[in-house]
Amino acid sequence: MKFETKVIHAGISPDPSTGAIMTPIFQTSTFVQASPGVHQGYEYARTQNPTRTVLQNNLAALENGTHGVAFSSGLAAMDAILRMLKPGDHIISTNDLYGGSYRLMTQVYKDYGIEATYIDMSDPDSLKDAIKENTRLIWIETPTNPLLQVFDIKALCSVADEKNIRTCVDNTFATPYLQNPLDLGASMVLHSATKYIGGHSDLVLGAVVTRDEEIAEKLAFIQNSVGAVPGPQDCFLALRGIKTLAIRVERACENAAKIADFLTGHPKVGKVFYPGLKSHPGHALAKDQMKMFGAMISFSTVNDDMDVARKILENTRYFSLAESLGGVESLIGHPASMTHASIPREERVAVGLLDSTIRLSVGIENVDDLIEDLKTAMEK
Ligand SMILES: *Cc1c(COP(=O)(O)O)cnc(C)c1O
Repeated sequence: MKFETKVIHAGISPDPSTGAIMTPIFQTSTFVQASPGVHQGYEYARTQNPTRTVLQNNLAALENGTHGVAFSSGLAAMDAILRMLKPGDHIISTNDLYGGSYRLMTQVYKDYGIEATYIDMSDPDSLKDAIKENTRLIWIETPTNPLLQVFDIKALCSVADEKNIRTCVDNTFATPYLQNPLDLGASMVLHSATKYIGGHSDLVLGAVVTRDEEIAEKLAFIQNSVGAVPGPQDCFLALRGIKTLAIRVERACENAAKIADFLTGHPKVGKVFYPGLKSHPGHALAKDQMKMFGAMISFSTVNDDMDVARKILENTRYFSLAESLGGVESLIGHPASMTHASIPREERVAVGLLDSTIRLSVGIENVDDLIEDLKTAMEK
């Protein structure tokens, strides 16, 4: 089955009791048994819910995995992965990382005796050097947020594999349409389905997909034991959003490429970060590793001019100033004061995240309207 068919059919079949073509929202906490222990595979809705089962199977298929495990948010999914570790274990993570993932490792798991090292993964040898006796997990995010660095998943996973260390790729920015980390050797893929998978900015949900029986069993155990499960309504919305994932992401990528070109030529714009630009250091790798270049763009203004940046942030009409990404509508954000405010200024500037850096999540509106919107805001 090809991807565009999978989003609509994989793991999904009409409801056997009624023929309903759409997976019903099983809004129930428990399931009646015919006799003690005699049931239809469902006992209690924290443990299993039929709407969630369909979503999990569909997500597993999209990532070419065998098991999907859904959680109440992307961070709850990450939390479940970290719970497989023990005090004294060590994580190596990319340094340009989603703020919430960084906070979970530095402010929650650190107190449970789990240490993390943050490195630049552009050279896989630097991963080799960072591996310690007690390293148990490699956390990879690519493309990164907000500077859209691209890392070589295959090379990094092969370094980890030699030492029998598990790897997880946060594939939220790329989506399963553009990039499939399990095919490149990762042991787990994480998604914040809040973003492109849901795609309509109307739910919060997370998932992990794997092919590893042992990991899948452990994650399902944690899912049930800890209980950070998504409700059936959110699972339904995610399933509904997924049906258009391929065409949404394709259109958003096409729009983003045109917007990146427009920004590159604009006199008020400084550096543009977009993997689709030939000038981007990860361009060749992205071309190899991803189907298209994604729909996230970051750019700074000439001379890091904050007045111009503020004008753009305050005056766009279709780009809404808000956190998050991956919805059908375009969003504009200011990482220095919003998503990345918790990172000290010197650290931010050192990695290239300037005060004036603006991040765009390009949606699927008409691209001429979007370009006109940015142009008008800059000229205000
Ligand atoms: C949003 C996001 C998360 C966290 O997901 P939530 O659903 O908000 O908990 C993790 N990683 C990346 C890259 C994200 O963008």
